[in-house]
Amino acid sequence: MKRINVIGGGLAGCECAYSLLKSGYEVYLYEMRPVVNTDVHKTDNLCELVCSNSLKSIDPNTSQGLLKLEMEKLDSLVIKCAKKTSVPAGGALAVDRELFSKAVEDELNSFDKLHIIREEVSDLEKEEFKDAINILATGPLTSESMCEYIQKVTNVTQLNFYDAVAPIIEYESINKEKSFFGGRYNKGGDDYINCPMNEEEYINFYNNLVEAECVILKDFENKDIFNACMPIEVMAKKGIDTMRFGPLRPVGFRYPNSEKRPYAIVQLRKEDNYNHLYNLVGFQTNLKFKEQERVFRMIPALENAEFVRYGVMHKNIFIDSTKLLNIDFSLNTLKNTYVIGQLSGVEGYIESAMCGIICGINIDRQIRGKKSIIPNEYTAIGSLIKYITTPNSSFQPMHASFSLIPELDEKVKDKKLRKELKSKRAIENIDNYLELLEKE
Ligand SMILES: Cc1cc2nc3c(=O)[nH]c(=O)nc-3n(C[C@H](O)[C@H](O)[C@H](O)COP(=O)(O)OP(=O)(O)OC[C@H]3O[C@@H](n4cnc5c(N)ncnc54)[C@H](O)[C@@H]3O)c2cc1C
Repeated sequence: MKRINVIGGGLAGCECAYSLLKSGYEVYLYEMRPVVNTDVHKTDNLCELVCSNSLKSIDPNTSQGLLKLEMEKLDSLVIKCAKKTSVPAGGALAVDRELFSKAVEDELNSFDKLHIIREEVSDLEKEEFKDAINILATGPLTSESMCEYIQKVTNVTQLNFYDAVAPIIEYESINKEKSFFGGRYNKGGDDYINCPMNEEEYINFYNNLVEAECVILKDFENKDIFNACMPIEVMAKKGIDTMRFGPLRPVGFRYPNSEKRPYAIVQLRKEDNYNHLYNLVGFQTNLKFKEQERVFRMIPALENAEFVRYGVMHKNIFIDSTKLLNIDFSLNTLKNTYVIGQLSGVEGYIESAMCGIICGINIDRQIRGKKSIIPNEYTAIGSLIKYITTPNSSFQPMHASFSLIPELDEKVKDKKLRKELKSKRAIENIDNYLELLEKE
């Protein structure tokens, strides 16, 4: 029997350890804190929530609520402990972070077969990792030595990313009457959606953008890092016309069926292969999420924009899972090695934990000589795993989203009802998955 090492005691690592312990395995869980600290973690607790104490919505007709419900059906440690330690937060699941970590530690420590080792793992070359099953769950702040090792075994030259990403919005929520497809000077086909603004609209947008509230960057997120990728609000502050000479330049465009030129153009580019998602080109931003909604909805075609992912700027290390990972989170360049959590290209606390469940289930199956199976793409879990493991040249980490789940067979106009029906179908598919796990 191979030794099982889980490296990283965060959301993904703890969830994976729990899944394997429940299946009866001996698990060695390595956590480097407090011996080595990260720039963000403040305690030596397992499963520390580094920022917000909210795990987002519990409404099953939202993508975040659906993901939680699916995970609950798969007996998620994180959801169970979050519910035990929740604090009032309207429709969201928010927790007392200290009690939450303690609940996770108590659950894990109730298994005799768990060994917690407080040590930084720099590579997988020592005896205890050789010929073992190793699960890398070291998160967006993976230690430097481990980053170097991952680069070596995945043959990539650059692993350290500082995320400076633009928001992604749902195609359906774009006002098609106030936007049009096409490239500059009519070149480039229909790859872009153009959102024009007249002078008055632009000035209104500009004034709100320069006054909008930003997230305060942490010390280590030194502003120099972002020079190559200037946030749109920083660019705007350089002068009223700077954006119109940059990503919002209107040259080469006319309003459809008209000779009139727009004063400024915001371009949206496809984010996925299904045309469900579009990103705002050049709009990497550090605005607070609510401010992104308020200000970017001032662009007329985006007045009702639904944000699938907000723009963020924070240190975030992740692998290109679209090339390196199989659906069960196994690495295709190194045998018996799995990568889960934020490091695997998902974004968010709950998404990270989800990877731990699916990976744990499939390691157990692998040991029992069975093939890997994951929930299908009609579920929040399956659709996200499919997204992060499908080739995509402009891949960025992703949240769970209804936009990743295939449409219903019949057309349903009402958006709320459509989400309800998609959610219902997802839960049926998770139940089928549970049956399949029993049977196969
Ligand atoms: C600054 C910041 C703020 C964020 N805020 C939010 C938020 O508000 N909401 C949200 O949903 N998501 C947020 N995220 C994204 C993400 O959801 C969290 O980072 C989440 O904790 C990721 O879970 P994880 O298990 O992958 O990593 P982590 O929870 O970070 O766990 C990884 C663990 O591995 C340990 N480790 C690292 N290297 C080694 C090593 N070599 N050897 C042994 N142990 C190691 C670390 O100490 C850590 O405990 C944020 C990310 C960052 C960076």
